[in-house]
Amino acid sequence: MAKKQFKAESKKLLDMMINSIYTHKEIFLRELISNASDALDKLYFKKMTDHTDFSKNDFYIEIKPDKENKTIEIIDNGIGMSKDDLENNLGVIAKSGSLDFKKENEKAEDIDVIGQFGVGFYSAFMVAKKITVISKAYGYETAFKWVSSGVDGYTISECEKEECGTKIIIEIKDDTETDKYSEFLEEYKIKSLVKKYSDYIRYPIKMEVEKQVQKENDDKDAEPSFETKREIQVLNSMVPLWHKNKNEITKEEYEQFYKDKFHDYEAPIKVIHSKTEGQVTYDSLMFIPSRPPFDFYTKDYEKGLALYTSGVLIMEKCKDLLPDHYSFVKGLVDSADLSLNISREILQHDHQLKIIAKAIEKKITSELKKMLSNEREKYEEFFKSFGVQLKFGVYNEFGVHKDTLKDLLIYISSNDEKYTTLSEYVMRMKDKQDTIYYACGESVDKIKLLPQTEAVKAKGFEILYMTDNVDEFAVQMLMEFEGKKFKNICDGSLDLDTDEEKEQINKKNEQEKEKLEFMKESLGDLVKDVKYTDKLTSSAVCLSSDGYLSMEMEKILKQMPNNNGMMKAQVVLEINSDHSVNEKINNLYENDKDTLKEFAKLLYYQARLISGLEIDNPQEFSNLICKFAID
Ligand code: ADP
Repeated sequence: MAKKQFKAESKKLLDMMINSIYTHKEIFLRELISNASDALDKLYFKKMTDHTDFSKNDFYIEIKPDKENKTIEIIDNGIGMSKDDLENNLGVIAKSGSLDFKKENEKAEDIDVIGQFGVGFYSAFMVAKKITVISKAYGYETAFKWVSSGVDGYTISECEKEECGTKIIIEIKDDTETDKYSEFLEEYKIKSLVKKYSDYIRYPIKMEVEKQVQKENDDKDAEPSFETKREIQVLNSMVPLWHKNKNEITKEEYEQFYKDKFHDYEAPIKVIHSKTEGQVTYDSLMFIPSRPPFDFYTKDYEKGLALYTSGVLIMEKCKDLLPDHYSFVKGLVDSADLSLNISREILQHDHQLKIIAKAIEKKITSELKKMLSNEREKYEEFFKSFGVQLKFGVYNEFGVHKDTLKDLLIYISSNDEKYTTLSEYVMRMKDKQDTIYYACGESVDKIKLLPQTEAVKAKGFEILYMTDNVDEFAVQMLMEFEGKKFKNICDGSLDLDTDEEKEQINKKNEQEKEKLEFMKESLGDLVKDVKYTDKLTSSAVCLSSDGYLSMEMEKILKQMPNNNGMMKAQVVLEINSDHSVNEKINNLYENDKDTLKEFAKLLYYQARLISGLEIDNPQEFSNLICKFAID
């Protein structure tokens, strides 16, 4: 029979497996048991939705070591695999994130990837010379056999199998001086591995074991004698991790559970485990990942918590249990109060589910607040990963969640260039300050270069630096915090002057009205106004916005797919009243009005660049620079 080749990526992973160090090899059993358990879940769910008569007690996983033939079998009567499934699931490792991880971290030890992440079925090659998978898919007539001895490929052929499900036969490698593969055929080893890694699997993991039993003897005075019997034993306690008491669970157990279940190679940043009794009684076990999953900020990401009733999975991802702003939370909810036969449609409207969802949101909020006050560094790490999601939460649905979320927001501040909460900002506010100042831009460094930043800081006010697209939309939705209004320092109505200063600059604008009007006319609809300002120190010009749409918002709206270019910020060109550029303006106004029109354009272009805005006509800009530079 012709051998089929593994896809290139799979080959690499196989190589990694085969050459991994010995101590990590034992995880192969955990991986195969976990696959078997998934297959049982799938069949369980199918039978339940098809209303097929069945008993949960019929489902099992069996481990059969055979010392003589040096094989170990892992058997399940789950959903099984069709010929196509075998081909697609065991011939490629398309879905596995571990290889991508490896690529990114080329220098990372192979071992870490294997040890921490687990690589599913393929891990069996760490201990196997040869693997045979015999499987019959539920509802199919024919069974198939998949055989492979590693990198040189695999074969698939028809075979006999009565029951649906999967049997994996592993031919264990020969012992070497350092690596004792035969250990995996020992009962004690298998028992301890199951206890260590798979204790909470909810199906019985059975194995036939030897047991010494006392022989019956009619003569009561005789010495007791024993005989060895073989009997089937269930190796796991089958108590789901989340049903155990918190103090019985180690950090490692939580982390291992999280990594296995949610396919992450990093430990979660936070574990939230709680038992709730009240209107609805349920257990929840939730995790906040350390980093966003690779697809988190894409449309493909599906939020939700797994939903169990009394330890039985009824839904892999129940969306209604998590609000969008907490979509990064992974985990599960288990409630005996939900009916098992509940259909997905009914579930959506289930009253109890709504109560749980509300309580879950509250719980997450309070845990995040706790983390913010007690574990600041950790919280900042968290916020770097998921802060944007919280900000969207403030903005979305017309701000209904803003009160929940506003205390969780942190921003880099000009105070010490570290993160600050809004209430910390307010506490530091100057006596008569009634405004929270913020500035938007691509990066903190760019914001710091804005002329307005310099001016506001010079007046002694603190500025929040906002670098996410959503920031200003969220702030506008908040409107105020503890009675303090927000103001973008690039807003034209920014008013930091004393009455005296105000009077002075107003006077200047009044006196120079005609000239400014001329410049404004020459710029047409590019600007709403041209005026003198005293808020600039070293820069000649800046733009400020007038109206609710800021320049930063215009930039963002421009990037949106349905943008028709209609949403434009109204801008005012502000000229530094003390800058030497004024001499030129005055001179041109007196002697060469046509050239002043061009000069006004140049100033406008400059101001756009300083604000981080694009220039529609760079060619014209460049020509203007040359013209005035050569003059
Ligand atoms: P993962 O479990 O992370 O998806 P694996 O490499 O372990 O990756 O398995 C690949 C796929 O093969 C599984 O998603 C599943 O569809 C299928 N599979 C593996 N083992 C079994 C099994 N015992 N019964 C049914 N399907 C299985």
